[in-house]
Amino acid sequence: MPRKLKVWVDPHACVGNAMCESIAPRVFRLNDSRQSEAVDPAGDSEAKILEAAENCPVSAIYVEDAETGERLFP
Ligand code: SF4
Repeated sequence: MPRKLKVWVDPHACVGNAMCESIAPRVFRLNDSRQSEAVDPAGDSEAKILEAAENCPVSAIYVEDAETGERLFP
């Protein structure tokens, strides 16, 4: 069982380049304002979510272990 993650995007930092959506499309989705939202933290693997977070050009993506609160990124 993969661990449960808490994933969120800082809307003030996101510049809407859709990198996260292309890496983990079941987790991240751009809304009508071209802001990424984490719509389903269980939609893609932890590795894909962390890859998306690492590739965000403005470090707008945050990832935590939902149960322990351990920060996984950044
Ligand atoms: S990669 Fe970062 S800046 Fe680009 S859409 Fe996703 S959260 Fe926004």
